[in-house]
Amino acid sequence: MQQRYFDHAATTPMRQVAIETWVAHAQFGNAGGQYADGRAARSVLDTARETIAELLGCEPIEVIFTGSGTEADNLAVRGLFAASELNTLVATPIEHPAVKESVEALGSTGAQVHLLEVGRDGVVIPDEHLDNPAAVATCMWANNETGAIQPVREIVERATAAGTPVHVDAVQVVGHRAVDFHALGATTLAASAHKFGGPRGMGLLLAKRSPAPKPLLLGGGQERGLRSGTVDVASAAATAAALREAVAEMEAEQQRLATLREQLLDGIRSAIDEVLVHTPEDSLEGHVHLSFPGAEGDSLIMLLDSRGFAASTGSACANGVNRASHVLLAMGVQEKEARAALRLTLGRTTTEEDVQALLRELPEIVNLARAAGMA
Ligand code: PLP
Repeated sequence: MQQRYFDHAATTPMRQVAIETWVAHAQFGNAGGQYADGRAARSVLDTARETIAELLGCEPIEVIFTGSGTEADNLAVRGLFAASELNTLVATPIEHPAVKESVEALGSTGAQVHLLEVGRDGVVIPDEHLDNPAAVATCMWANNETGAIQPVREIVERATAAGTPVHVDAVQVVGHRAVDFHALGATTLAASAHKFGGPRGMGLLLAKRSPAPKPLLLGGGQERGLRSGTVDVASAAATAAALREAVAEMEAEQQRLATLREQLLDGIRSAIDEVLVHTPEDSLEGHVHLSFPGAEGDSLIMLLDSRGFAASTGSACANGVNRASHVLLAMGVQEKEARAALRLTLGRTTTEEDVQALLRELPEIVNLARAAGMA
């Protein structure tokens, strides 16, 4: 059974152009080889790097291929901190675990961490800590749970004025909103190919020449010495192809998804009592993050699954136990309501028929989950 897929923020299907590009380059070898085959691989890698740089507003040398968005975030946050002589760090309480855990690890070894506050709308509130020099300031561009767009321009501007390097986790944004790395002015920016129809296991770190993060991996010195390891040439080429198509379709897709999301939200609000909507107005068009008080998030996704719908609660689960999302808690949502959360994320393959099918089933599913009660 083909499920109706409402989890595009977790990963989105690979684009056909990315699959074809990957297959066409699957036999390319080591781009560091000093022979004709190596030079051919190098040329494919160079072209992919140039394409990505052009699409994201940076120089090719600033594009670092990594193994995931998680790795790009780790390299930026921990690497920039290690490259600095300062011991303070500014972050937000709504970061993805790739950043959150990196920041917490630094905190546990003595770094002084200041977390910016976040409003009820899920938007971070810049404060005066950004005006003092720090080893690094980090803020995501859009939240992976709520889709809320964050004030990254102001954060970059203020931190940069204080001489602080800034990392932006743009994993949910690249391929969905226009990104111009130079215009933004951040020091580093993370992206992940599988969020825009590229292959899984391929991340990108855009990194200014200076200050550069201290590498986490030691080895052959590939990728400006920032990320040692033989680069996956086929995935790099597929990533560039996916990004090119995503950027070309971006505006039309934003409008299409905004219309579908409106239909979905209107339908939910009119058919189901007591719905909390966590996604604010200024958000990624594909995101709808909600709570249905009285229903356990896990029950909702299991019931949806049994009826052919793939969705998530939005928060990471540890050992299969659903915890209230740190993002919702930071926004001031009550724990009980946070545990009643459901994240529906629309994407490229979502159709109006998918939305209508979900709207036909969801009211009963919420009733059943509410009848089962909270654990
Ligand atoms: N940052 C954000 C905001 C994300 O949404 C994700 C993935 O969900 C990541 C980082 C990690 O990316 P990857 O899955 O490529 O490791």
